[in-house]
Amino acid sequence: MTVLRGEGVSSGIASGKLIFLRRDAPSPVRREINDPETEISRFNEARNEAIRQLSKLYAESRAVLGDEHALLFEIHKMMLDDLDYRESVEGLIRSERVNAEYAVAQTASQFADMFRQMDDLYMRERSADVLDVSARVVRLLAGEEVSMPKGSEPFILAADDLAPSETARLDRGRILAFVTMRGSKNSHTAIFARTMGIPAVVELGNSLNESLDGKSVFVDGEAGTVYIEPDPKTESELRSRAHAAEERRRYFERFRGLDAYSPSGRRVLLGANIGSPQDLNLVLAAGADAIGLFRSEFLYLGRDAYPSEDEQFDAYRKAAEAMAGRTVVIRTLDIGADKQAKYFELPQEENPALGMRAIRICLTRPEVFKTQLRALYRASAYGNIAIMFPMIASVEEVRRAKEYCAQVCSELKSEGIAFNSETQVGIMIETPAAAIISDILAPEVDFFSIGTNDLTQYTLAADRQNEAVQPFCDVHHEAVLRLIRMTVENAHKSGIWAGICGELAADTALTDTFMEIGVDELSMPPGNIPEIRAKILDR
Ligand code: PEP
Ligand code: MG
Repeated sequence: MTVLRGEGVSSGIASGKLIFLRRDAPSPVRREINDPETEISRFNEARNEAIRQLSKLYAESRAVLGDEHALLFEIHKMMLDDLDYRESVEGLIRSERVNAEYAVAQTASQFADMFRQMDDLYMRERSADVLDVSARVVRLLAGEEVSMPKGSEPFILAADDLAPSETARLDRGRILAFVTMRGSKNSHTAIFARTMGIPAVVELGNSLNESLDGKSVFVDGEAGTVYIEPDPKTESELRSRAHAAEERRRYFERFRGLDAYSPSGRRVLLGANIGSPQDLNLVLAAGADAIGLFRSEFLYLGRDAYPSEDEQFDAYRKAAEAMAGRTVVIRTLDIGADKQAKYFELPQEENPALGMRAIRICLTRPEVFKTQLRALYRASAYGNIAIMFPMIASVEEVRRAKEYCAQVCSELKSEGIAFNSETQVGIMIETPAAAIISDILAPEVDFFSIGTNDLTQYTLAADRQNEAVQPFCDVHHEAVLRLIRMTVENAHKSGIWAGICGELAADTALTDTFMEIGVDELSMPPGNIPEIRAKILDR
């Protein structure tokens, strides 16, 4: 038996086969081939598929972003159709008898060099495009970026780390637990595991390596331990711990359906955090009073093009209908930083967490923002939807965002499309700036929801993604608690409600403090709700 120790970030015990996540190598290796004509048809099949994808991207971007943004995809398509480009790839395959991936990569780098040396600025800028479009063809030749093991068997997923765009692509029904080399408690991998209610251990370092692929393991998400081929004694201990956890779950069940009140008699809603309509059954199973945070950006991740208005409308409507009158707070697109989607073509940044993300992107790309707002308002006719803007730092941003809401409402009205004109509009308090000016933000909105994950990283200047600085990131730091208190007090002075939707909402060590502060809603991974309800009610 081998024991690996890391940081437990989502509790529970799971056992199964350990499978490593496969990703394609970004730089294709040279392989000798026997049959150049077969390689050439592989190349042409991938090229045609890339052209098909680009046509779709072009049409969707044109509808959402306008001609100028869409033009790029048209240029990429033209490059793949270019006779010189095709002849170069096919010539290399024939003359050097090499694989298509290698021939495409070689051609791309020759063409990029050639563009780079041109006098014309426009042509020089095409060098990045030829590399980009060729990478698309190479990916198609080599397969998906993230590949799940074939078959239907459940398994424990191992990886160095998982990007949010990758978690969005996973076939979640088969994953029993996550174990990763890197990651941190507030990284989105950890949040994803907690939302799904499966155990996860991160920060296992190099002890987690591919030689363990296929081994039978037990994961203890509470202790942060992974047992490789455990001996019978350890296995039976783990099984009895899993049994004890089950008993606790049964005890929490006694409080299902009961409303939670603070000792001073204030109703506290217990909400669920979700990333997609796939999570709705977990929300209902947990007996949530509301959805306090729907991270809508997951609808945009793990795909090649923007979700259409109708696609988003379907997802929001499903959530509204499933909650049957209970509030569903949907956060508008919070993309950027660790949540990346290539088709957004976000700039490479030195400090992405402090960069172009969330509301900043929405306010600079109004077509994307308005498409989402239209979908949200249309869905508001089917339940109790509330709209929430992320990463707010100024009053001006709130006013501009609300201006887009007003535009969308008047468009829908003139088109005769139903929506709820009383839809609540709120903001996340996740920058210290927003907490500090919460007194002047409160009169602008219907509610606040405190995002303690980002609020903590920005207040303590400690990157939530960087495990090396986690020891310097005290999640109970007095500075964060004071900002929470200040925010809630300012909300109440203006007669609006204030909740917490960061991971701290599920921290049982702070439940009493939050009651004393007067927090109106605690929103958390669905699986934590029964425990927090029991904690509040069992006095
Ligand atoms: C937060 O920052 O606390 C939050 C809830 O948003 P996210 O974790 O998605 O950044
Ligand atoms: Mg946040």
